[in-house]
Amino acid sequence: MILESVKTKLNNEIQLIGRQTLDKGGCILIIGVVHGDEPQGEFLINNYLEKTTVLPPHLLFIPSLNPDGQSLETRTNANEVDINRNFPTENWELGERNRYFGGESPASEIETRFVIDVVEKYAPKLIITLHTPFKIVNFDGEAREISEKIGKIFNYPVEASIGYPTPGSFGTWAGIERQIPIITIEMDEEIPQEELVAPFKKMIDMLH
Ligand SMILES: [Zn+2]
Repeated sequence: MILESVKTKLNNEIQLIGRQTLDKGGCILIIGVVHGDEPQGEFLINNYLEKTTVLPPHLLFIPSLNPDGQSLETRTNANEVDINRNFPTENWELGERNRYFGGESPASEIETRFVIDVVEKYAPKLIITLHTPFKIVNFDGEAREISEKIGKIFNYPVEASIGYPTPGSFGTWAGIERQIPIITIEMDEEIPQEELVAPFKKMIDMLH
């Protein structure tokens, strides 16, 4: 069922899906389409939800965090902001107006504030975000062990996402500043998305 929702600038709806009898504090939040031009995450989440009659109580899904970017076929949202640079981290900075623009101020965007509210309300013990196209599993915070398992399932290498600055990123906000382990799966965009269904399902079944 839809636990939370919000309307975007272009009047699309962002939804949080889960069971009402949720395993609060022990749940895992899985997020698709942070970047509007990476639709695979929503496809995989919706495919899983359609095939699942009884949702496990520890799973929470945001199928598409950036439906406006999706309809515009852009990485950014309708305000041309990269959601993954708009989180209110200590290293957030006002950057140039390019495809990594982090907004006029931290958490200026509806999409960013929706995730922050969900994380604060439901206190997930792990967050997984679904991106493309780098064929790698990145993590921030204490998530190496689970990342290795996911890397094996997808057959992607695993790397801690330290070493390059990503001001205002969700990984920094959750994984580093709040110690909520967060994993970014950068999936293959060149293969048909149907081929990602099996590894995605295998990953979900492994999570508990
Ligand atoms: Zn992305």
